[in-house]
Amino acid sequence: MKVCVIGAGYVGATTAACLAELGHNVCCIDIDEEKVDKINAGSPPIHEDCLKELLQKHVGKRLRATTDYDTIADSDVCFICVGTPSGPNGEIDLSLIKAASKSVGITLKNSENYHVIAVKSTVVPETTQNVIIPIIEEHSQKKAGADFGIVMNPEFLREGNAIHDFMHPDRVVIGELDERSGEIVAQLYKDLNAPMIRIDLKTAEMIKYASNAFLATKISFSNEIGNMCKMLGIDVYDVMRAVGLDQRISPHFLQAGVGFGGSCFPKDVKALIHKAEMLGYQPKVLKSVMDVNEEQPERMICLLERRAGNISGKKIAVLGLAFKNDTDDIRESRAIPAIRMLLEKGGNVSTYDPLANENMRAIFPDVEYCHSAKDALKDADACLVMTEWEEFKKLGDEFNVMKNKIVIDGRKVITPRKDIDYEGLCW
Ligand code: NAD
Repeated sequence: MKVCVIGAGYVGATTAACLAELGHNVCCIDIDEEKVDKINAGSPPIHEDCLKELLQKHVGKRLRATTDYDTIADSDVCFICVGTPSGPNGEIDLSLIKAASKSVGITLKNSENYHVIAVKSTVVPETTQNVIIPIIEEHSQKKAGADFGIVMNPEFLREGNAIHDFMHPDRVVIGELDERSGEIVAQLYKDLNAPMIRIDLKTAEMIKYASNAFLATKISFSNEIGNMCKMLGIDVYDVMRAVGLDQRISPHFLQAGVGFGGSCFPKDVKALIHKAEMLGYQPKVLKSVMDVNEEQPERMICLLERRAGNISGKKIAVLGLAFKNDTDDIRESRAIPAIRMLLEKGGNVSTYDPLANENMRAIFPDVEYCHSAKDALKDADACLVMTEWEEFKKLGDEFNVMKNKIVIDGRKVITPRKDIDYEGLCW
């Protein structure tokens, strides 16, 4: 099939490369010329494992990128994968998806073909029906369900494992306005060995939010238990290892620590809270999930002050800037509030991340960015570990270059040693 993918970020670039791998002819559309040029040169616009290999295999054959929306006219399906960030009150900011929908509508106006628009961006329930369809109808002068098709096809990939997750999904959810639209998109995924859920538009939208909110809840729940364990002298990892063996619970997302970040969990939970409040409902569980998450970085700074005393004038090494391992994405990374607090308290911050130094430089231009953990640790008065990078698990003698070997671990990745003053956040 001929497919367009609007937005060449983490979801769009992955979707485009994977659909090409599945045998479809794919064109990626982005307003960012640099990303378009990178894709056409076979170079990934974002860091994602295996993405480079797929781009180099398919660019120039089944895959290309452009800034030109007209290419949609010649396609069967177009996926909308633009960002849906948080507005000032936690509400979903639909400005990018509204702009993309308008561009799609304008293009469809002069097209004779039947197209299906697949909304892959995460949008709160009722958005496809009440916001996206009316915009496309207005600008195309066509009727959804008759002249063009529409589905809401949420994406569940994890950054860092995006290609694998796209090709091996736990389920494919297709929220459809009508059977014809759903059937065409279902055909795109027919070679994936995954259960397919065909449902209505707003249920598909809610499935995505419920999934992310539940995973975020598991993390905040583990953190709350972890905070109590810390007071009781219990290692929460021992507790959760046993808890997770219960098949009703599962071992995933029970790792207590400095909390969740990233482009999805914080903004999606906030958007769901806002949607609930618009409906006149107070979502108490979801609000607590966010509250616990916000407090975890503060807890790390408290532990640091208890060990190292006044932070003012001290050099603090921050290891890990990405919101999780195996990505360069720093959106809502827990390192951001931690570094901000350290700077407010007069600390001198040196940092290291295997992939995310440059992205973080845009937020904190005056912090010292190092090429290795050892460089960041040199002469430091203390160290905070913020991201669960595999290479941090191997750190040992590198701590010897610190002035004071105080290590506050927010992810349980450092192996405690007799000669380091180690403290875990929840253990
Ligand atoms: P992103 O910011 O990495 O990428 C979005 C891309 O869209 C950017 O390259 C931007 O230049 C482009 N864009 C913006 N407006 C455009 C327009 N009008 N026309 C063409 N291109 C335009 O975002 P992302 O992380 O890929 O997320 C996209 C959506 O998918 C969001 O709704 C997000 O919540 C959802 N999602 C993200 C993940 C994830 O792990 N990142 C997982 C599942 C779902």
